[in-house]
Amino acid sequence: PLDKDELGRSAWGLIHTMAATYPQTPSQTQKCEMRTFFNVFAKFYPCPHCSEDLQEELKIEPPKVENPEQLSQWLCRLHNKVNVKLGKEIFDCSKVNERWRDGWKD
Ligand code: FAD
Repeated sequence: PLDKDELGRSAWGLIHTMAATYPQTPSQTQKCEMRTFFNVFAKFYPCPHCSEDLQEELKIEPPKVENPEQLSQWLCRLHNKVNVKLGKEIFDCSKVNERWRDGWKD
């Protein structure tokens, strides 16, 4: 089985990539589905206390599903809240596209 850290890295990779590739002008249905995705993801995230915290965070700041920029920034803030909780470094959210969409320049 995946340990908590492997699971976390894989999960963040998936959801940051989903945010980066979200449609530029999503339909009402796509917005609704993306909101639902995060709510369901939070409910079934297979680490019980992470799941509880995540559900609370979604109530405080629900997903911003208007476009990929807003979704990516929202997710970056969410990830940073977890980083703070775990004593990890804060990620600079202006670099989210470099990290998850375009790739770092050398
Ligand atoms: P990760 O935090 O997994 O990050 C992976 C990569 O994402 C980093 O290397 C960096 O390049 C990039 N990154 C970092 N921060 C950001 C950001 N803000 N925006 C965009 N990109 C970023 N673990 C616990 O022990 N307790 C918890 O309560 C907990 N809750 C979690 C909740 C969720 C929703 C998820 C997905 C994971 C959770 N985890 C939790 C796991 C934890 O967040 C990490 O995934 C794990 O500790 C491994 O950390 P890491 O240092 O390898 O980097």
